Amino acid sequence: MFNQITVAEATAERWDMVIAGSSFAAMFFLRGLPSGLRVLIVEKGEILPHADQLAAFSRPRETYAQQNTSGHFKDWVAHTMFGGNSNCWWGQVPRFHPNDFRLAQMYGVGAAWPLGYDDLEPFYAEVEQVMQVAGGDSEHILPRSAPFPFPPHALSRSDIACRAAFPDIWVPVATARSNGGSRATCCANGVCDLCPVDAKFTVLNGIDGFLRDGVSLLTGAEAWRVDIAAGRATGLVIRAGDATATVAADQVALATNAVNNAAILLRSGVDSPALGAYLHEQHSLELEIDVAAPGYFGGSSITGHCYGFYDGPHRSGAAAVLVENYNAPNALRAERGRWSERMKLKLIAEDLPQADNRVSLGADDQPRLTWVGHSDYARAGLKRAEDNLQDILPFALERIVARRSPATEAHIQGTHRMGADPATSVVDNTLRLHRVANLFALGSGVYPTSSAANPTLTLSALSLRAGRLV
Ligand SMILES: Cc1cc2nc3c(=O)[nH]c(=O)nc-3n(C[C@H](O)[C@H](O)[C@H](O)COP(=O)(O)OP(=O)(O)OC[C@H]3O[C@@H](n4cnc5c(N)ncnc54)[C@H](O)[C@@H]3O)c2cc1C
Ligand code: SF4
Repeated sequence: MFNQITVAEATAERWDMVIAGSSFAAMFFLRGLPSGLRVLIVEKGEILPHADQLAAFSRPRETYAQQNTSGHFKDWVAHTMFGGNSNCWWGQVPRFHPNDFRLAQMYGVGAAWPLGYDDLEPFYAEVEQVMQVAGGDSEHILPRSAPFPFPPHALSRSDIACRAAFPDIWVPVATARSNGGSRATCCANGVCDLCPVDAKFTVLNGIDGFLRDGVSLLTGAEAWRVDIAAGRATGLVIRAGDATATVAADQVALATNAVNNAAILLRSGVDSPALGAYLHEQHSLELEIDVAAPGYFGGSSITGHCYGFYDGPHRSGAAAVLVENYNAPNALRAERGRWSERMKLKLIAEDLPQADNRVSLGADDQPRLTWVGHSDYARAGLKRAEDNLQDILPFALERIVARRSPATEAHIQGTHRMGADPATSVVDNTLRLHRVANLFALGSGVYPTSSAANPTLTLSALSLRAGRLV
């Protein structure tokens, strides 16, 4: 573990870099930094070892004030502890599709990304090594310079049939739930938010990938605002218990998630029209379907990905949809001899970020979320996929037995988007603020558009790249 220090020790010296947060964005940025820097990590929560998390069966969670006019319950999930949501994520790590980075150029929708797939590719490969990703066979869709570190998990019986019939669109999932490497092998019991055998990558069990000389850790201290003078960050104001103190630093990086990063920047007086706006995440639909073939019994909780509704000209009007095939059934089928002839699919649509969905500061200076709903674009993508479900299945779809739109994908994106133009974006393609060059805002808050793919591999690769460019 890092060298833990007190508030008094943290404020007694000037740091080369202060990083707020200790999860994916913070750790991969740290990994990328040049050696020799004196770095302080400021974490609001405490270190909770995996065994303690199992014993407690719960973790400290943020509650955000929210005004929701969408007509649907909307939730956002953020855990406050060392390693953040890495403790509870599910370890799905698809790369973004190359065309996710050029949605605006190719399909005329969404905001332009100021970098492309090829810029990130080597960093994707390094993050996959650190996370010991198990995967395989998606190279024709998502080009790679190196093989996956470990082979894919055994596919479920429905995956095997789907892949045999449609090898161009069905692939084994890429996952940080282990299938080889230093962690216990995933055993497919499907309670991955608190994995009993610690099989998925977390910052805690992967800490060796980030430890280095010259780094100290201050826990129980909340990054509150950045002191900025003459266009330069001079330090981070922290709150610990009843005390407020300032940590002096040459450079500051915020990696506290898209809601908290925006709140900190707003408190710091950063003036950018896009700051706080475009909060978003994917819109999804969970389906249980009865099919004329056996469904389950693969080697991890989610084993198959289908790209049949992902990229193509439809993206000018309807979202890309990534389909997950769950190997963790909600319920088996009741008919004698047919109890595994069911699939649980999740259709995950990219959303088009809208300026009205946003983070602002309440009267108490705490973040306040305004949520008006997902875009028509996302809804059109989900409808297109659901209407054409039979097209991606090689056996008869007999009936939909359950249909549910979750309150969240637990992905918090947007709010300090990246772009080339300071008038419409907050950070540049190195994740530095346009207007404060020694201040970084890391994480999926930088996404100008959402992708249908889960965000964490990409935000980690972006952070690693940003660190390397310091
Ligand atoms: C149940 C669940 C399942 C998920 N599954 C997947 C998945 O399969 N694949 C995927 O790609 N993504 C998944 N995600 C999303 C993923 O967890 C996030 O994308 C990822 O954790 C974001 O990383 P981050 O470093 O930006 O922020 P976080 O992980 O949110 O960490 C933020 C850190 O900052 C700290 N912090 C907060 N405020 C302050 C402050 N003011 N000062 C100092 N420190 C602060 C927090 O304690 C925490 O350590 C899942 C999320 C959940 C909740
Ligand atoms: S399927 Fe089971 S063993 Fe694998 S990561 Fe999830 S909880 Fe852990």
